Amino acid sequence: MYSTGAVENRLFVYEVVGLSQKGVTNDSVNPIRRSGSVFFTVPYRRMNQEMRRIIRMGGQIVSIKPLNGDTPLQVTANQLTGNSPASAQPQSTEKTNGKVMTQAKAKNTDIPVNIYRPNKPFIGKCIENYPLVAEGGLGIVQHLTFDLSEGDLRYIEGQSIGIVPPGTDANGKPQKLRLYSIASTRHGDHKDDKTVSLCVRQLEYKHPESGETVYGVCSTFLCNLGIGDDVAITGPVGKEMLLPEEEDATIIMLATGTGIAPFRAYLWRMFKEQHEDYKFKGLAWLIFGIPYTANILYKDDLEQLAAEYPDNFRLTYAISREEKNAEGGRMYIQHRVAEHAQELWDKMQSPKTHTYMCGLKGMEDGIEEALGSIAAQNGIAWPDFVKQMKKEHRWHVETY
Ligand SMILES: Cc1cc2nc3c(=O)[nH]c(=O)nc-3n(C[C@H](O)[C@H](O)[C@H](O)COP(=O)(O)OP(=O)(O)OC[C@H]3O[C@@H](n4cnc5c(N)ncnc54)[C@H](O)[C@@H]3O)c2cc1C
Repeated sequence: MYSTGAVENRLFVYEVVGLSQKGVTNDSVNPIRRSGSVFFTVPYRRMNQEMRRIIRMGGQIVSIKPLNGDTPLQVTANQLTGNSPASAQPQSTEKTNGKVMTQAKAKNTDIPVNIYRPNKPFIGKCIENYPLVAEGGLGIVQHLTFDLSEGDLRYIEGQSIGIVPPGTDANGKPQKLRLYSIASTRHGDHKDDKTVSLCVRQLEYKHPESGETVYGVCSTFLCNLGIGDDVAITGPVGKEMLLPEEEDATIIMLATGTGIAPFRAYLWRMFKEQHEDYKFKGLAWLIFGIPYTANILYKDDLEQLAAEYPDNFRLTYAISREEKNAEGGRMYIQHRVAEHAQELWDKMQSPKTHTYMCGLKGMEDGIEEALGSIAAQNGIAWPDFVKQMKKEHRWHVETY
């Protein structure tokens, strides 16, 4: 059921035919063009005004659907053909059951969680550990693969596992687990369902008082693992970063540093693996922020995929210490996002688009900086837009 307040905050998608491209691009409501139809996302309070504008321009409204798919609008034949002034009102009688949207959470029951807990972790073996940062790059980042064949650990793309480092903490207690995003698909790097891979940066910082270099406990343990070494694994956990089931979705991925991990899993599933259980036909767009070219993790693979699948995979870098933004400062991910703001905004209007963000804590603020003004130009406050997308399970954030 709607309360008036809830309706007023809602967005609706108009499908319109019969408009010229020229006629729509000057307006603040952003159109998305697909096979003869143009789709507009319209805030509730502008619905009548927008309907009149479309009619004035000779357009015909084919359908009006709420962006979140909860409740359809009942629009009369006259309104659809533009013969009567618009007064479409949301009706409370029927649920569409999410037909107009994609939901990453639709089948949560199939998601494996906590198969192994910290009091009885799975002991896997390290079978791969190789560096991902090229010469001249900053820090140490390793790609690690663990053998799972002796256990029951299963996972899907977008989940994390816990690693319990050996030894005790400063209080003499056993070390606590640390979470790491899984970087492989559910079938594993060897495509045999028997491995899991991570992308781990060794934490290194100067102690604020002593000035001594401090290395993180678990990340150092992982980065130094030898082939055949044991590793205590828990999980999997996480439902925030799952891919939607729809194979024609648009997947926007915003990554900084090791935030690439879940996106490697997605891209391998979409393009590299070509497993019979998933045939991606949509668009994946990765915007990847790193300090130097030498820090582009999985660079060769990413560029090969971009070259091989130009219609389905777009790759954009923001190389902060080599490239300059429009103001002459460092090119961070938010500057790249700002450069593509219109296009990203247009894509985000589609119910088929999911946006994912992974990496450095605080990334979200930069993205708001980059897209806030385009949202405002469209009469929507960015936090409200994000809230709406979260509600629709189209906005996914994992930062640490
Ligand atoms: C959901 C999730 C997914 C993650 N995925 C990944 C991943 O894919 N790859 C990855 O590398 N990491 C990932 N992490 C981070 C990871 O869990 C660990 O936090 C990280 O590896 C550091 O653990 P550590 O044991 O090495 O450091 P610790 O020994 O635990 O040290 C960390 C502590 O050091 C202190 N510290 C850190 N930096 C500074 C500083 N600059 N100045 C002063 N003090 C500081 C803080 O007190 C901090 O709590 C993820 C975290 C989460 C929550």
